[in-house]
Formats: sequence, structure tokens, C-alpha cells
Amino acid sequence: MNSTTDPNLKSWIESANGSDTDFPIQNLPFGLFSRPDGDTRCIGIAIGEEILDCQALVEAGYLDDHCSPEARCALSANSLNDYLGLGRDEWRSVRERVSALLRSDMPDLKDKPDDRDACFVRQSEVRMHVPMAIGDYTDFYASLHHATNVGSMFRPDNPLLPNWKHLPVGYHGRASSIVISGTPIDRPMGQTIAADGEDPRFGPVRLLDYELEVTFVVGPGNPMGHRIDIENARDHLFGLMLMNDWSARDVQKWEYQPLGPFNSKNFGTTLSPWIVTLDALEPFMVPGPLRGDDDPKNLDYLNWADDFGIDLQLTVEISSAAMREAGSEPTLVSRGNYADMYWTMSQMLAHHTKTGCPMRPGDIFASGTVSGVAEDSRGCLLERTWRGQNPITLGDGTERKFLQDGDEVVINGWCQRDGVQRIGFGSCTGVVHPVKEPATV
Ligand code: CA
Repeated sequence: MNSTTDPNLKSWIESANGSDTDFPIQNLPFGLFSRPDGDTRCIGIAIGEEILDCQALVEAGYLDDHCSPEARCALSANSLNDYLGLGRDEWRSVRERVSALLRSDMPDLKDKPDDRDACFVRQSEVRMHVPMAIGDYTDFYASLHHATNVGSMFRPDNPLLPNWKHLPVGYHGRASSIVISGTPIDRPMGQTIAADGEDPRFGPVRLLDYELEVTFVVGPGNPMGHRIDIENARDHLFGLMLMNDWSARDVQKWEYQPLGPFNSKNFGTTLSPWIVTLDALEPFMVPGPLRGDDDPKNLDYLNWADDFGIDLQLTVEISSAAMREAGSEPTLVSRGNYADMYWTMSQMLAHHTKTGCPMRPGDIFASGTVSGVAEDSRGCLLERTWRGQNPITLGDGTERKFLQDGDEVVINGWCQRDGVQRIGFGSCTGVVHPVKEPATV
């Protein structure tokens, strides 16, 4: 375990020391924020209820003797891409220095009120942004339970296609509609058919769904024509975010054959505000998923004795507009664990680059819907309500087969285990707004 995850560490930022904070000193996740009085975007690190402003920290000289000029320059930029490209050694030296500066027994920054004023801003006061320019986004389908459940609804005789256990199935997603937590999602329009054999219609999507996913952010990546071997994947994995892959099931059903999802997935994808680094997640790494006796053996390029999953607990809650107005608690609809996935991040990265396909800093890879064995661990309404056959009841007594306008979906994720400090991700939220005709340009 690296020293920055030592459970005995405390910070002089008191709000970082509570037992239920997502952002203790052992976490130190990265995000991009702007202050209420300006549009300038700054890289920040969450600590308790505060954000450490990286550019201000650099300007005050606190990283001078501890981090490279490249790292100081990258931390002063208005997106995380350059920093992501620096690689693991640089990430580690910044993390160690920031951890040291925030420790309760370190007076350097703590005892300088002017520097403290310049370097910290409260999370409640800022606007968060997608932390990097995302060049490419790939969405996988890595949960055996999700793939089996969905497959059995759409193809009862043939739920799991023959390739599924041989390679991590994915599709190239749409980066332009990825938004940060809190951004409303307009109900899209789409082409659907009511039942097989009927004429297609165009109108508001009726079967709007969420998908509970975890995404990883690529670090340095690889030039075109080069490959990332699975043993080296860890050097290219910067950190994780929570994701809601909003999905239009009626569109998906009509369009997905022969080339997979298209308009059913391209109208909005929501990310949580912070990237929790692999260094912070180290205490929660678990061995890569075991294969059943009947499962095919992985080809060599997908095999790594030290491969790992992450013991990351996940929940999805829904509240209607009426519930929020009444101040009532949201209804818990799904709970899952990222460790339940069949394919790992390393396998996805190795498989994706085996053709020589380049990855660039800031690309993201999403896991696909995280579903477990239990009914309440199914990570979308399609599975949870079994295509609408078994509606769920919200706290206000109304039923949901799929999402209605005004519904808010909140995804939370955290890691917790005995003898280790709990860390969290911050919420990934979005409210469904009614159809709005997009402006024509
Ligand atoms: Ca998905």
C-alpha cells in the first residue's frame, strides 16, 4: 500500500476527517471547476468540503522542489489532458506532495492564511466541468449478468452471443454529448416501432432508461500502430468516474441490428464530477474475475496473472419532481458492485489497442451496465422492471417502468473495507426534462 492511503492520515482541513466524507486525505480526486465570479476553468483536487486549486498551489511555489516543471505547467492548464499524458511517476510525485501539504502535522500551507485563501475554494460555491477534452469514448458490455438479462429479453433463444466470453464487446460511443453531473437531459426524439411488423414512427422516446456504469480515464495512451500489452495497462489507467449512460430502449430495439447502438445512446451521457485515481483505489483492488469451469480460456493477450477489479459499491436512486418538492428521500432502485464485472479495465485496454488503434490522454472507456446476480443489483430499468413487466414503486406511490419527465437519477459510488479509510466519488446526477425541439442551425 502506498503511504498516501494510510488510514491513520488526518488532514488539517477538518471537513476531510469525517467518517462519511467522500473526500478524505486518502482520496484526493481530480476535477475541473470555475469560480462563481469567472469562466476560467481550473484543475482542482477535492479535500473534504473544499477544493485545492492546483494553479494557485503552483503559483504560490508549493510544488517547486517536488514536482517537475512539466507537471506544474500541466496543473496550471484549463483541462486535465496534459496532466493525464504525463504518466504514473509524475502523478505519484504530485499526489505525494499534495498529501504531505494537507496532513495535519504539516504546517507549511496550513499556517499561511494568505496562501490558504488563494488555494482553497468551497465545493458548494463552484461550477464543475467535464475535466478533460474527451477525444474518444468507448462503451463496453462487460457484465455477464447484464448481457445475459438483456440478451434473454431481446433474443430468448440465444441470450449470449458466441463471441461474448472470448472478447470484451464494445462500441465506439459519442464524446460530444458527455456532460458533467447536474446537467439536465432532454427527452430525445427518435424513430421507433411499437411492435415487430408495424410501421416506424418518429416522436418522443417513450422508454427512457439510465445505465449504471463506471468509466476509466486513459493516461498517456499509445501512438498509432503500437499496442498496450495487458501487463502494462496499469500505467495507462489514471482513474475512475461514475457514469449514467442514458438510453432510449424503444430506439435501441429497432436500430441495434446489425451494427449496434446508435441514436439510442448518443443524446446524453453523464459523468460524476471527480476522477478517483488508481493510486487512491489501490487498497480496494481485488483479483481479476474468476472464470467458471465451462468458460473458455482467455487468449494470451487477455491474460494477466496480476489483473484486478475494484471493490466499488454503487447505488442508483430515483426521485420524481413531486418527491423533491415534498423534500422526501429518493427511492433506491439498484445497488451493484464494480467487482462483479466479467471483463477488466486492463483487458478492455489491451483488446482495444491490439489493432494498433491509438489511445489519447483523456479518452474514456465505460464498463457497460454494472449488474450483479440479485434482482436489486440490476443496473438499469430495462432489467430492473424486466422490460416494464414488473414496475417499481417510488416513494411517492407512483410506478415506473421507465423514466418520466422530471425524474432525477442519482448514482453514488464508494469503496469501504475494514482497516482502510472509506473513499467516495461524489454523486452523478441528472434530471429528465421534457422534449425540447433542438434549434436548427
Ligand atoms: Ca452502456
